[in-house]
Amino acid sequence: MFYVKETINDAVEVKVEINDENVFCHCPRCGKEVHVDINEFMGDEDFDLYATSLYCDDCGRKVRCDK
Ligand SMILES: [Zn+2]
Repeated sequence: MFYVKETINDAVEVKVEINDENVFCHCPRCGKEVHVDINEFMGDEDFDLYATSLYCDDCGRKVRCDK
């Protein structure tokens, strides 16, 4: 299991398990929160933790229609 660890202060440290339900990004077009199934990106050599983001359903539809 992977988890994220954040130290809040000297007394509090938070660990949160990473699973297929608790990873999100912001849509690069409208800023809406988008659920990410991190399993889809495992092993993808083009995946960049800092640069990869996903469109929300609405913006994904609009982007596809604009092309
Ligand atoms: Zn969007």
